[in-house]
Amino acid sequence: MLAYTYVEQGKFELREKPRPRLKDARDAIVRVTLGSICTSDLHIKHGSVPRAVPGITVGHEMVGIVEETGDAVRNVKPGDRVAVNVETFCGECFFCRHGYVNNCTDPDGGWALGCRIDGGQAEYVRVPHADQGLTRIPDGVSDEQALFVGDILATGFWAARISEITPEDTVLIIGAGPTGICSLLCTMLKHPRRIIVCEKSPERIRFVREHYLDVLVTTPEECLAFVHAHSDHGGADVVMEVAGARDTFQLAWQCARPNAVVTVVAMYDEPQILPLPDMYGKNLTFKTGGVDGCDCAEILRLIEAGKIDTTPLITHRFPLSRIEEAYRLFENREDGVIKVAIG
Ligand SMILES: [Zn+2]
Ligand SMILES: [Zn+2]
Repeated sequence: MLAYTYVEQGKFELREKPRPRLKDARDAIVRVTLGSICTSDLHIKHGSVPRAVPGITVGHEMVGIVEETGDAVRNVKPGDRVAVNVETFCGECFFCRHGYVNNCTDPDGGWALGCRIDGGQAEYVRVPHADQGLTRIPDGVSDEQALFVGDILATGFWAARISEITPEDTVLIIGAGPTGICSLLCTMLKHPRRIIVCEKSPERIRFVREHYLDVLVTTPEECLAFVHAHSDHGGADVVMEVAGARDTFQLAWQCARPNAVVTVVAMYDEPQILPLPDMYGKNLTFKTGGVDGCDCAEILRLIEAGKIDTTPLITHRFPLSRIEEAYRLFENREDGVIKVAIG
């Protein structure tokens, strides 16, 4: 089968590989019907994910059809359409039992697919702990509607869940990339008083303005003054930092009102400075990244009910055989691309 492979730093290649086989009774083999490219794939390519193993098939955003299951798999069976979770988790350890699945202590626990073990930018993928890692897609939900459930939408859902949003709040979301938009969609489900999105790309600003009419939009340069002018207590009640750019962490805490929650969803390429003397007395609560992706069934129900729709994010479509082209487009942010669908 064809599998897009991490060869070495800076180099991915479409290679012919044998089809994956069951290794454990809890595994399933999934035929990938649709996949996508995530910014984290680019982080692997650029060498900023040291635990990524050269030779592995990349890709961790996908949906497919169960082809085969191990004897211990109970929740899915061959023929089921499923969303694949970016995270592998056992469902039984201390962290899993508390819903902190990102820190599952299983050897394969956490982000393994397309990083430490073969992922899904391929025709087939082996999913360990399939009872946890696969969620059946309801009949009324298409592959495109379900494509982001296991990764960026799970991240947005988790970010909104842990941010303690109330109907009184002004929520600032920094970054309107794909994960920023997913965080926005899930924040909208909480019905806060105001949502402000901060973004620098004119194309992305246009996208937000076109699709989400009630959302206020500002730029990084104007953000601090804008948030002061459009909030009730001298800053945002909740800030989600989803940009991960050079100065966006500073912007995040500066835009927060005293006693706010600042949720850092972004993955940075460099260490960030936490200037405690400058923020002394602001009494902020920081929550940091690493999605606990255990809400996929609920997210799929919300999609089925028409409450979340990420299909406008899919701006381009490519077959697996042309994945090189898709990467070039996504990496260079050409042609107004937000997300590509591969399949
Ligand atoms: Zn991802
Ligand atoms: Zn676990």
